[in-house]
Amino acid sequence: MLRQTVLLFGPPGSGKGTQAKRLEQHLRATHVSTGDMFREHLSRHNELGRKIEHIMRSGQLVPDAVTNEMVRERLLCPDVALGTLLDGFPRNIPQARWLETFLAGRGYGIRGVVVMNVPREQLIGRLKSRAIKEGRADDADDGVIRRRLDTYAAQTEACIGFYESVRVAVHPIDGVGSVDEITRRVLTALGTA
Ligand code: AMP
Repeated sequence: MLRQTVLLFGPPGSGKGTQAKRLEQHLRATHVSTGDMFREHLSRHNELGRKIEHIMRSGQLVPDAVTNEMVRERLLCPDVALGTLLDGFPRNIPQARWLETFLAGRGYGIRGVVVMNVPREQLIGRLKSRAIKEGRADDADDGVIRRRLDTYAAQTEACIGFYESVRVAVHPIDGVGSVDEITRRVLTALGTA
């Protein structure tokens, strides 16, 4: 069962994935990234992959019903028993409410919310260079980059207010600096440094 859940928030390009891989070991939590899960479905060209291809390539959010069901199945797997580091979920208030209900139904809450902050101009630069390096189609195009950043500002930032309102600790982190420095900032904020 889920003992502790840490949520990692931050706009695309803020370094969530990089930090999550490092934090996994420090926090003894399993990294669950909805973006990685969706990309895996895309690369397998399975039914879900075909359904979400257009949505992902245009920088929009996959519908909540599809996303929540994928997360539900993942969070019921035994390897997340000791803890979960959720990266990229929830992305909007309905997903946040769904997660509250899911965790509460199992007697668990959210240990903390980490928010990675990086200036927009830097995010755009990082996303463009990532698109070239990794061939990530959803990172490639200027319009798509802007749409993904706007979606974060319009829908995902609202989740931060939601967690404050239900008294979950929210930790804003300066996401500019070396990878090590940022990991230290997160661990200090969570009280595990
Ligand atoms: P990410 O790597 O987290 O930026 O996610 C890449 C893409 O996957 C997003 O632009 C969305 O199309 C989709 N995605 C990831 N997480 C979610 C989510 N929680 N809700 C809806 N769509 C998501």
